[in-house]
Amino acid sequence: MAAPLPSPDMPPALVARHGSCSLLTPDGEVLTLAAEEAVRELRAWPAPLVVHAPLTARRLGLPPLPQPTPWLDLLELFTFVLPGRTIPPTVRGLAQALDLDDARIGAAEADLLPELADILLDRAAALRMTPAGEDMAALAIRMDRAGWAWGGSVLAALGAAHPLPPEALQPGDAIRVWRRLPRWEDTAPRPAPANHPVSAADARRRLGEMLGPQAESRAGQADFAGAASAAFAPRLVRGDPHMVLAEAGTGTGKTLGYVAPASLWAERNGGAVWISTYTRHLQRQIEGELSRLYPDPAVRRRHVVLRKGRENYLCLLNMEEAVNMAGSRGGPSGAIIGLSLVARWAGATADGDLLGGDLPGWFGDLFGRGLLAGIADRRGECIHGACPHYQRCFVEHSIRRAREADLVIANHALVMAQAAWHAMDGESGADEDNIPTRYVFDEGHHVMDAADSAFSTELSGLEAAELRRWLLGAEGARSRARGLKRRLDDLVVGQPRLEAPLEAVLQAAHALPPPGWSARLADALHPVLEPVPQAGEDEAMPALAGPVPAAPVLADATLPNPCEWMLHLLARQVLARSRANEPGHTGHRGGAIECDLHPLSDALPAAAAALARALDRLAVALRTLVERLLERLEDDTGDLDSATRERIEAAVRTLRRRALSRVEGWVAMLRAIGGPEDGPGGMAERGTPQHIDFIRLDRREGQRPGEQDVGLHRHWLDPTIPFAAVLAAPAHGILTTSATLRDENGRGDGDEAERAWEAAEARTGASHLPSPALRAAVASPFDYRRQSRAFIVNDVAHDDIGALAGAYRTLFQAAGGGGLGLFTAISRLRAVHQRLSRPLEDAGIPLYAQHVDGMDNATLVDIFRSEANSCLLGTDAMRDGVDVPGRSLRLVVFERVPWPRPDILHRERRTHLSRGQPGEYDDRIARLRLRQAFGRLIRSSSDRGVFVLLDRRAPSRLLSAFPEGVAVRRAGLGEVARDMESFLRGHENGEDGFPPSPSFTS
Ligand code: SF4
Repeated sequence: MAAPLPSPDMPPALVARHGSCSLLTPDGEVLTLAAEEAVRELRAWPAPLVVHAPLTARRLGLPPLPQPTPWLDLLELFTFVLPGRTIPPTVRGLAQALDLDDARIGAAEADLLPELADILLDRAAALRMTPAGEDMAALAIRMDRAGWAWGGSVLAALGAAHPLPPEALQPGDAIRVWRRLPRWEDTAPRPAPANHPVSAADARRRLGEMLGPQAESRAGQADFAGAASAAFAPRLVRGDPHMVLAEAGTGTGKTLGYVAPASLWAERNGGAVWISTYTRHLQRQIEGELSRLYPDPAVRRRHVVLRKGRENYLCLLNMEEAVNMAGSRGGPSGAIIGLSLVARWAGATADGDLLGGDLPGWFGDLFGRGLLAGIADRRGECIHGACPHYQRCFVEHSIRRAREADLVIANHALVMAQAAWHAMDGESGADEDNIPTRYVFDEGHHVMDAADSAFSTELSGLEAAELRRWLLGAEGARSRARGLKRRLDDLVVGQPRLEAPLEAVLQAAHALPPPGWSARLADALHPVLEPVPQAGEDEAMPALAGPVPAAPVLADATLPNPCEWMLHLLARQVLARSRANEPGHTGHRGGAIECDLHPLSDALPAAAAALARALDRLAVALRTLVERLLERLEDDTGDLDSATRERIEAAVRTLRRRALSRVEGWVAMLRAIGGPEDGPGGMAERGTPQHIDFIRLDRREGQRPGEQDVGLHRHWLDPTIPFAAVLAAPAHGILTTSATLRDENGRGDGDEAERAWEAAEARTGASHLPSPALRAAVASPFDYRRQSRAFIVNDVAHDDIGALAGAYRTLFQAAGGGGLGLFTAISRLRAVHQRLSRPLEDAGIPLYAQHVDGMDNATLVDIFRSEANSCLLGTDAMRDGVDVPGRSLRLVVFERVPWPRPDILHRERRTHLSRGQPGEYDDRIARLRLRQAFGRLIRSSSDRGVFVLLDRRAPSRLLSAFPEGVAVRRAGLGEVARDMESFLRGHENGEDGFPPSPSFTS
């Protein structure tokens, strides 16, 4: 057992950067070494102290570390001592979380690490002899046995002696956290809400109360709150909700602006307002702002609930299985250490949210994302009331809390899925969530994209194989997949009316692709597809190699499975028709290739008909099973206890949502092949199609190198049609808001402004509702003319990666860091990162990158925010919704104009939704994306920032994307760097306002 740090055998400490590192030797000497030298030194020493072991190993050029990690990772110690807290996974982030001041943190070199370890061990020691400390001791003994590098030091700090007294929690029980969590209690259903209105004056008053007398008065925010209140008026006509479109320029304070009327409406009417945003990260951001309304965390927890899909939460049953499986192996086990830390967190978490909640986003980096995937409810195998942990279940508790809350913060995907399920289940269906009558769609410019995903249909190998696994279980594979029979056993056994349809379902499920389909598809397509290594990737990505040879001969007899046969035919058609076969063409969406479904290749109609018949048998069997389960609910009213009733209701719900709706959608799509809507014929004959059908081939998460997924896809041409029908029309009021609802080309009055509003209405579904939406726009309070500059660099060749990387380096160095680099393609981001990381590190500017650093986006943004001189590279997700006020973000560099991706979906939409102006349709998308990107720059009235576009081809007609007053100038790279440096330095020196040079044009 090791003693707490420091000790005579002080371990070395290491902070790795790109290519170099700071190393504290066991003798206390701090060295700056090249990565290779540090690796050599480390071989002779005990395991080092590090922060983020996997990232450190990657930066040293080492292979992935074994599990359990032999190194002393301070992040593991942090999650053990302070569970339920998130921090940026850096030395500085850790030091700040432990209350060290900036002077002590200094350059955050390796010599700080022993002090951080001591602080954490001291905090553990402070819990000695307390109930929490005793629980920690029991868990630490279990972790020590599993080979935890910190085990000895933590046990010494806690003064834990083994064996523990018999009355104490024992090591084997400490990890079984599900036995100790509190139980939730059910409450009576909430009555339907009343319909009292909220006036604009009331909303303004509530806003004032939230902000307090000291807050600066923002007229725009009060106007916004007043306009938003119109969405909370009583509905006058069924199917005709009050819809408000409210654009709020950056800095308006729109969150509190809509929370004011929303919270008042909820209080007056006893109902919930659902606030929907685009990403998990933004959900947390909104939740954070609600502390202005409910400063007391306990009160806030009663009134506000954050809801996500079930797959985000810890499933205690899956955790129990994972603990049993990992524990049965004995010996050292990284899984046991990871699960023990999950157990620590589960006792401290607010809501059990594994992804983006109070479990740090980097936890999955340390123990593998598979560990988290295995303990979430990702496979849809929840057994609800039959689960021994049901009354402690985080998912169920979160659903129940949401039923009582005033404000539910959700995301677009969940809200749309929920509305679609409600439409499917009907009024009689037992629903998990009370369907709200009032919605706020924040980040409303994403409504169309979210609806596009929510209301599309995909029949792909992975989707179909996953359904087979859900119905039939693992079928001999090494997996814990339970299958429908095992999940429904207690409800069905001894009930012949249920056993027969269940058996029919299981029989019919054999039409779905059997295990091994993906490898067989890869074999059949070989040598059309050759694995080709891509820069910066561990695994080889299959890419097209040369022209397509004759299609492989695949006889129906060799592939009796109708779904697998269909997949082969789809793959064959896409390979034959895609332009990606041509040398130098890389396809779309990260290497995916696609082609139109029509005209159909010869064998497809027969294969589609055969598969439709087979899937229809499955749909009929599923429907019968659902009906019989519902009959049992009706017939056995007196015999069923409430737990069994709830269980049957949950089984019906899951069967409908997870299986039946999907299979019915596939059958409809297959039957439409060759049908009147989508049959062969020119565009003129068909007119405007309702759907877009195409085939896509790509590699998906979880597939092995060389394997690919192929699928038939059906999207709505205008996905806001189903959005309006399924979600908007049944609602009573909807507020849709964003900083970029309208394309700013419509700035000003007259026809252009009207067209901009009409386009916004089309993108948000407002144009499909009976009454017109109320329009409101509040300008940003920022003085962009004074606070920002924008440049277009006109001497960097767009197709030269070396020149692009050189431009990024020049600009990031001139700004002294604080730069966000945005890319439209992952491959270019990686190529630039490869050339950029070392020189920037040498200049003292740490560089982080999405798609490279193996960290989730929220973690990367946290690091970027906490390190004022770091730089970050990212793609779309960083362009939208990153909120980094202050010096940490003072420069945004966009590599090229963010034109829409030229895929089939876009081709059809620009043709049919552009009112005959496809070019203008493209421009509008690019302008909105540029506006979003620019919006990252200035987040408060004291921010100063520079936006640079490295694309000399950028047409001037796109420049209206920038806010009014922003001076945009085309210049060479050197000049831009100089002007930018001078502008940023001028403001750092306190010069207020930097007059534009005469050559500036706005
Ligand atoms: S009720 Fe479902 S989600 Fe909850 S712990 Fe049990 S199986 Fe997991």
